[in-house]
Amino acid sequence: MSCDGELRARIEQSLRRAMSPVPAELLTAYYGYQDIHFRRYLLVTNFLGQAAYLSYALADRLVVPDIFAASLAWRGTYIGLILLLTLAAFRWCRDIRLLDLLLPVSILLAAMIWFRLLVDSNSPHVTTYQYASLIFIVLANLCIQVRFVPALLLSLLISAVTLAGVHRLAAGDGMTLLVFGLVYLPVLFFSLFISFSNTLERRRIFLRSRLDAMTRDELAQANRKLQTLAHTDPLTGTSNRRQFHLSAERELARARRQQEPICLLMLDIDHFKRINDQHGHDAGDRVLRELAGTARKMLREPDLLARFGGEEFVALLPNTALDSARTVAERLRVKLSELRIPDLPQAPIRITVSIGVAPLYQFDLDQALKEADRALYLAKHGGRNQVRLATSTG
Ligand code: GH3
Ligand code: MG
Ligand code: MG
Repeated sequence: MSCDGELRARIEQSLRRAMSPVPAELLTAYYGYQDIHFRRYLLVTNFLGQAAYLSYALADRLVVPDIFAASLAWRGTYIGLILLLTLAAFRWCRDIRLLDLLLPVSILLAAMIWFRLLVDSNSPHVTTYQYASLIFIVLANLCIQVRFVPALLLSLLISAVTLAGVHRLAAGDGMTLLVFGLVYLPVLFFSLFISFSNTLERRRIFLRSRLDAMTRDELAQANRKLQTLAHTDPLTGTSNRRQFHLSAERELARARRQQEPICLLMLDIDHFKRINDQHGHDAGDRVLRELAGTARKMLREPDLLARFGGEEFVALLPNTALDSARTVAERLRVKLSELRIPDLPQAPIRITVSIGVAPLYQFDLDQALKEADRALYLAKHGGRNQVRLATSTG
């Protein structure tokens, strides 16, 4: 199985498991993904949480007026510092795991401050007011998106601070503590459940997005392969007739715009049937591959080479006048006649080729193909192993 295949299998397996753990090699990508999708959300929830905490000073004014001044001072100072810390963290910290925990940590501190303030109040409403501390655990857990275990630990710490605070305010009254605990625990479990579901869903969405991305990549790859197959001759790796027409038309349009000379070669192996008959079809295939490789090496980068069918090749030579095209064809003919294609050690295969050359004065590809074909016919009838120019060119 390929690397991608193995990873795909691991992701699918992970998605089937209850906790859908992210495979180790994807952890960095996972945190990067969360960073892209949740950074802004976390920033907003931090601001809203802090604004909520500050706004409770107004409730303090009504319920515990004796500590209002201290409450305003503490809350104001605290929010100022936390605001700066939040801005700095979101500006410079690249680790979404830390940003995810910023709100629960600031809530832990906020809970400590609030209970410390309440202890100093003589208001008769304090025991009722302490129920407002439920907001701490709710806020801390509802906003967690990335990692559940640290969130759970922080929830336990916040709960410890809350219960210690209530214990202190209850001054040893077991009933008050019990009632608070009975109210608090369902809220704790509910908020933990939301936090757990959120983090699990984030992992699943990420894993599914990886599978989708892999499927898209595979499709794109398959499409590229199909495109190559549709445009390439599988035996020689050169362009096929279809691709030649596409590329040649583009090249011709360019040549017409620039008024550049451009020429066409049509090349055919002499007595190829005999080679097949004497050496076998596989050896014939090797000859075709060898010829294509040699021709490709001899031509320039912008020249288009294509297998037109059977043992017939064409080459389009941009920015090449007829004289130069004839020279190229002649060099190609000589070079190919020097090839020794291994067959039996004592009898390597030798070939000769005939080549017809036509200029594209009118930039008309079909016309040039006909003329090159006629020139090739003349070369065959002239005795093969030769280059002929299209007759209309003199
Ligand atoms: P000429 O000099 O007149 O061109 O003679 P020729 O034998 O080369 O031409 P002919 O058209 O009679 O035969 C072409 C042969 O090319 C016949 C066919 O079996 C062979 N051929 C066509 N395609 C392939 C191929 O992909 N592989 C192999 N090995 N042979 C092929
Ligand atoms: Mg032939
Ligand atoms: Mg032929």
